Amino acid sequence: MTAGVRSVTAAVLALAACARPSYLGARLPQPCTARDVEACLGWMVERDLADAELDLYDDTALRAYVQGIADRLASGAGLPRAPRVVIADHDGTYATSGSRIVIGRPTIERLDSEAELAGVIAHELAHIEGHHAVVSLFGPPSGDDALVLRRDAEAVADERAVALLERAGYAPAAMARALGAVLDAEDDEHPLRADRIARARVMAGGRPGFEGRAELLGHLEHMVVGRDSRLGRRVGDAWVVAALGLAVALGPGDVVRETNDVLVLRRGQATLAAYAIGAPWARELAAALEDRTADTRGLGRITVGNVAAPSERDATPIGKLARAIRATLPQPAPGTHVAILERARGALVIELGGRGVAELGLREATPDELAAAEPARIVIERAWQTGALRDALICEGRLLDSPDRRVAAGDPIKCADRAIAARELAPRLMADAALRRD
Ligand SMILES: [Zn+2]
Repeated sequence: MTAGVRSVTAAVLALAACARPSYLGARLPQPCTARDVEACLGWMVERDLADAELDLYDDTALRAYVQGIADRLASGAGLPRAPRVVIADHDGTYATSGSRIVIGRPTIERLDSEAELAGVIAHELAHIEGHHAVVSLFGPPSGDDALVLRRDAEAVADERAVALLERAGYAPAAMARALGAVLDAEDDEHPLRADRIARARVMAGGRPGFEGRAELLGHLEHMVVGRDSRLGRRVGDAWVVAALGLAVALGPGDVVRETNDVLVLRRGQATLAAYAIGAPWARELAAALEDRTADTRGLGRITVGNVAAPSERDATPIGKLARAIRATLPQPAPGTHVAILERARGALVIELGGRGVAELGLREATPDELAAAEPARIVIERAWQTGALRDALICEGRLLDSPDRRVAAGDPIKCADRAIAARELAPRLMADAALRRD
């Protein structure tokens, strides 16, 4: 969470007092009606991921496994209650308001043992335990002091994470390896990457503990790897959104660019954009369009209209809350002429760029297109000899473990079920390359 939490706090209280409390189409849970502001905000963050951004990685067994690791660490930390862990489909890991840890599926993909995954979670747990979000929100407002404070919080969290790993019985040395795997580039808010890794290694001091490589890999089998292409992938002459069962037919003159699951299409003089969002959020956006027309034949309910400027008139706490939260969700800019096509599992927002919906070439995706848009997944294979993976002739072109890893015969090895374009794995491969330099 960023600034504005204090006004949001007042707004949550007002929301709880409403006659029919709901958020993104769901009834507010007990913490919201009981005025537990922190827990209520945590619930909202999760609901945004799931029902507005289609960005929750939906795998109950994997979430339960990761939650079990958080529970084990939390009891070692003496926390009364473990934070709730959710797995997102975007890279990165962070602690949010309301004792939530959001861990990215692409982050899990980079890790090599349960102890390393525990290290990533322990770091976030330390932020929650130390109320670091509160420090950065309510400490010095901005400038160099805030940055120093933030860097200090990171160093404290790394140090505490090593201790939490050890208390929970994990190998403390896994923290340094986890940092090596997940930290990419340098930034102002964190101590230098190499310093953090070196410090974590010194603090661990080579003491033993549970590593759990086979345990982690066992739970990663069938996990999506690389970009989750179900939110949009080019298949032949179509752009296919498998999550919605839709295809956009592409013409020979179309110029196509895909970034972050958004299709940007230049067709003649017009520039169109299309992206998938959650159904409850789509219904709210559609209901707020100006000059709108709706039609429910064919592919689903299509609402066409212009995006209204957000009303600043409602200065009540609940009005402010609605604006603050809405601003963080995926949506077209005010004034944009859009079509919103609602499907069973979500909706497609199309920024029409002056074109009509009929010109877009929208249709049901074919079974072959849906199959082609399926993302790559992790498979676990077994080494058949002792040595470095680069010499093992296993998973050639599909290897997700470091080629330098030494394995014994029968050891599990992380592979993809098919070759993956390098750009889809770029951050992980960069991290691997950097780790080999250390
Ligand atoms: Zn941190």
